Amino acid sequence: MEELLKETLERSLRYLRSLSERSVAPTPEAVGRLKGLRGPLPETPSRSEDVLSLLDDLGSPATVVNAGGRFFGFVNGGSLPVTVAANWLATAWDQNAGQVVSSPVAAALEEIALEWLVDVLSLPAGTGGGFVTGATMANFSALAAARHALLQRCGWDVEAEGLFGAPELRVVVGEEVHVSLLNALSLLGLGRERVLKIPVDDQGRMVASELPELTDRTILCLQAGNVNTGAFDPAKELCAKANDAGAWVHVDGAFGLWAAASPNRAHLVAGHNGADSWATDAHKWLNVPYDSGLVFCRDPELLAAAMRQRAAYLAHHEVGRQPDHFVPEMSRRARGVEVWAALRALGRGGLAEMIERTCTHAARFAEGLQAAGYNVLNDVELNQVLVSFGDPDITNRVIEGVQQDGTCWCGGTLWQGHTAMRISVSSWATSDEDVERSLDAILRIAERCRRSEKGRT
Ligand SMILES: *Cc1c(COP(=O)(O)O)cnc(C)c1O
Repeated sequence: MEELLKETLERSLRYLRSLSERSVAPTPEAVGRLKGLRGPLPETPSRSEDVLSLLDDLGSPATVVNAGGRFFGFVNGGSLPVTVAANWLATAWDQNAGQVVSSPVAAALEEIALEWLVDVLSLPAGTGGGFVTGATMANFSALAAARHALLQRCGWDVEAEGLFGAPELRVVVGEEVHVSLLNALSLLGLGRERVLKIPVDDQGRMVASELPELTDRTILCLQAGNVNTGAFDPAKELCAKANDAGAWVHVDGAFGLWAAASPNRAHLVAGHNGADSWATDAHKWLNVPYDSGLVFCRDPELLAAAMRQRAAYLAHHEVGRQPDHFVPEMSRRARGVEVWAALRALGRGGLAEMIERTCTHAARFAEGLQAAGYNVLNDVELNQVLVSFGDPDITNRVIEGVQQDGTCWCGGTLWQGHTAMRISVSSWATSDEDVERSLDAILRIAERCRRSEKGRT
């Protein structure tokens, strides 16, 4: 084991040192060489060192350089050094984080991290939660709690009886609802198309005056951080209406919820703590390794009522907060280790600074693109920038050119009918130099596309 892990350390360091020189998207040649990992299942065992070497030699070149500072796709964060280290140690620990008895340390770290998170995200005191794979499962778990709570009030036990013959629930979302929330609704039997969609403004925020009559059988789903613009629904107004009606409010705050941690951005998320449940990602803006999402519920008992599994062999060991009472899974890895380590290392000040710094980088991108005459389509108040380089064809060619060039990586999107390139700055690793280097590359490629366009016409 010792030689193997030492060699892994060497290989990991070599990989990390190569990041700044590598193409952010792997070259087609590197992806092609993945063929070398195929072949029939070996009949006999191989040496661990040989397997590791194969993995590194063929695998490492085919990675996307997400760990570097110039990947700006999909709101992907990086992994803070302390979380890479904590993750290694936790892998050596090999804990099953499902129950206190199977890992007292994992359970304790979850509890501490939850307490810190409720504080730093400005959630109501007493809020509880669970550690899931990502915001998709966090949305799923929170909406299961909502389903439980609303039907329990009608005297319906949805966990036991299912939805056959149950009183009807109504789900209200914004036009700009994230697909993962619709997916969660479909998994819960609430139907992805049975929702009522509220119109949104030019930033994707729900228009509060368009809200229908809510009842105590309504689940209202808000968004903190639109995946394109970074905009927030007007939570204060919406929560007030929903609370009066006895409706359940859920917030999908996969990345936007973290704005609460920065004094300069907290006003954006104001009012979202009037909700009943929240979903967020730690693998996005907290910068911990995948897969790491968080579900929060104002009344933790309602989440537990929707999630808890009962069996004689489990009941035997129940003392304190049982991690598996708050998530759909039983056995799982100890995600709380890295969340705890990130928060412990950053502290309140370091977290605020990381959120603020990434937002400042986004503002610099917007400024540089605008100065060159390109059209930034969103109000850049958070870490998201949408830019159009002209007609859809030229914008698509710029996106393709940027991805092939390899200096940085940005994705494409369609924003309210406009084709746009999307820049999301979510990684701790992004430096001022990364931003300038990326901006130069984007402007160089955009200029080239524009010139070749002129040549054609
Ligand atoms: C990323 C994101 C999700 C999905 O999160 P996963 O971690 O990929 O499951 C949901 N909602 C919003 C707003 C997001 O940005």
